[in-house]
Amino acid sequence: MARTSSTDAEREAIRYVATLMAASARTAPKTSGVDTTQTMVVDGDDLELIAKAMDEEAATKAEPLASSFRRDANCVRNSECVVLVGVTGAIKKPDRPFDCGACGFKTCKALTGAREKRGTSTDFDGPVCIFDAIDLGVALGSAVKIAADHNIDNRLMYTLGASITRLQWIKSDIVIGIPLSTTGKNPYFDRG
Ligand code: SF4
Repeated sequence: MARTSSTDAEREAIRYVATLMAASARTAPKTSGVDTTQTMVVDGDDLELIAKAMDEEAATKAEPLASSFRRDANCVRNSECVVLVGVTGAIKKPDRPFDCGACGFKTCKALTGAREKRGTSTDFDGPVCIFDAIDLGVALGSAVKIAADHNIDNRLMYTLGASITRLQWIKSDIVIGIPLSTTGKNPYFDRG
């Protein structure tokens, strides 16, 4: 008789759900039918690399953000797996610009020019086209729905994504990280 411990079963479940979340982010609707989304599933020793990067980011921040980075770094340490979802932020169809103005520039060409001239940024590498930001939100919603459907605890983390932008593990100008856990107490809420 084969036996799987609860720890191993839960670890396997999280990893499986993480891959489903990545797939769900990929198939989520994309504005203009152009996909600028990137995803990655991270587990094992690489989680500590992320947590360390978040602690390093904390050292560059003022309160209360510094505490948020440190608190979320510990959440990553206590997670089994992390799903990353990001977008490039570039205009979708340069040959058919919308010139909608939502990004703060009057034309798509002006946004593209500003992106080419940008220097060192903070947590994310803006400016970005609003349609990429919309796509990121839709992809994240699709991904966390999969986690919720399988009762895997999760949380959308700005702090985690900002640290990944610095690590450059995926080629995205905005990244949000989603840590995953299956413990008796959800580690991402009521953190005190
Ligand atoms: S948000 Fe900016 S770059 Fe995107 S379509 Fe509107 S004007 Fe163009």
